[in-house]
Amino acid sequence: MTNLTRPPEYERLDATLARLQVVLPIGILVAVGIYAGVFQVWLIDHTDPWLTFILEFLIFGLVGAVAVWMALGWIRRLVDENIERDRQARTQERLLATISANSADAITLLDNDGCIKSWNRGAELLFGYTPPEILGKHFSLLVPQEHSTELDHIDQVLEENGFVRGWITQRLTRDGRMLTVELTRTLLRDENGALIGSSAILRDVTEREKNALAVREMNRQLETLVAQRTRELAESNRELRRRQHELEKANVELKQLDELKSEFVSLVSHELRAPLANISGSLELLLSDANNLTTNQRDLLSLANDQVERLARLVRGILNVSRIEAGQTLLQMQAFDITATVERICAQWQRCDTEHLWIVDAPGNLPSVWADRDRIEEVLTNLMENAFKYSDPETEIRVHCEPRDGEMVISVSDQGKGIESEDLRLIFDKFYRVERDDARRTYGYGLGLYISIKLVEAMGGKLWADSEMGKGSTFYFSLPLAGHTAPTYTSAMSVN
Ligand code: ADP
Repeated sequence: MTNLTRPPEYERLDATLARLQVVLPIGILVAVGIYAGVFQVWLIDHTDPWLTFILEFLIFGLVGAVAVWMALGWIRRLVDENIERDRQARTQERLLATISANSADAITLLDNDGCIKSWNRGAELLFGYTPPEILGKHFSLLVPQEHSTELDHIDQVLEENGFVRGWITQRLTRDGRMLTVELTRTLLRDENGALIGSSAILRDVTEREKNALAVREMNRQLETLVAQRTRELAESNRELRRRQHELEKANVELKQLDELKSEFVSLVSHELRAPLANISGSLELLLSDANNLTTNQRDLLSLANDQVERLARLVRGILNVSRIEAGQTLLQMQAFDITATVERICAQWQRCDTEHLWIVDAPGNLPSVWADRDRIEEVLTNLMENAFKYSDPETEIRVHCEPRDGEMVISVSDQGKGIESEDLRLIFDKFYRVERDDARRTYGYGLGLYISIKLVEAMGGKLWADSEMGKGSTFYFSLPLAGHTAPTYTSAMSVN
């Protein structure tokens, strides 16, 4: 091995030893010369020969021995340090060799001509070549035909930068399979900077690239889909806006029509009220002179009177509804005793309907309610009339009053056929009547409950119902107690 290939620390050691080889003898020679030329003459003249002998023995005997002892000690230290450095370097080399051997990546060394000098286990597994088959062969053996031109380019980049990193390309295996690899090349130089070859690390990224390709493809499809959906959405948005516009227009027209209809109905009802009152008065007058009428005539007049009464009720109902809907119902809110009102209306029903058992279940000392008394009488009459209409004779109709949670709850229960739960949600709608066998036998227009719920709600209460088929129904409504509400004497009611 020449000096050029020796590591720098050996160079330094060698230089120091060479210096020592010259300095040590010269130093001893000079020291002895000075002693012999200067001190020895003086010592012989001035001291005892024994003392001279002892001093000479010490000088000649010790200088050489100490100098040799120090030099050897120093050399030993240097040698120990070098041995330790060697040991560490070998350990590191071994570790690197183990890592390289066990790496899943292909790690190879190439000489300056691009021939393969080392081939690890990872390379063997990846490309299928064993070391004897590939060592000494040119690296281009792994390069497929279509990538042959890239080698020059890689060499050029290597020369410029000293390395090539993350180069995605393709390489051929022994059995002709094409692998997608990530290539890292690094130029290798010795300690004096001379180029001694390069390393090539190849990582199999076939799966990764396949997945990335799939993801890119999915992304592309997704973007196309999103763009398409966005276009569709924009289109349906436009369509929706157009429809909304049409609906708004239709709504305005409907509102106008509704107003026209309400005005018309209200006008007709007003116009009907007076003639109906006249007809009813005339019929009652005729009926009061019963002695001059045959039974047949009396029956006919009674029937006509009933029909006129029904017509008048319908007209009243329609007028009520149009007033409520126009917000023209004036409420006269006041505190009053609900028990007295309930008892009075019940007594009227008891007088004209002896077939049902009418029961008032209300303690005498209940707190007053805050409501419009006439409107509450109207609501009570509607509920009691329904109980009368929709339950059989000989059954019980019970009216109950009870203060509950700061309100007064009034209920009217009957033992009639009951109402199906689907109907129970709809009976408060305008003109809703339950389709049933006896519906034709009971007169009505489906307005009573609609008017009642609107009136009760306008007074700050609620109206609801419970029913069980075959057992009967109970209609409840709640009203605020007089002490719980700020006093108002009249209020306009508006219903949407
Ligand atoms: P109507 O004038 O038809 O009685 P309502 O608005 O008062 O109008 O009642 C609506 C419908 O609710 C009625 O047609 C009837 O079918 C049902 N209904 C109301 N009260 C009772 C009740 N007490 N028992 C059974 N069904 C009832």
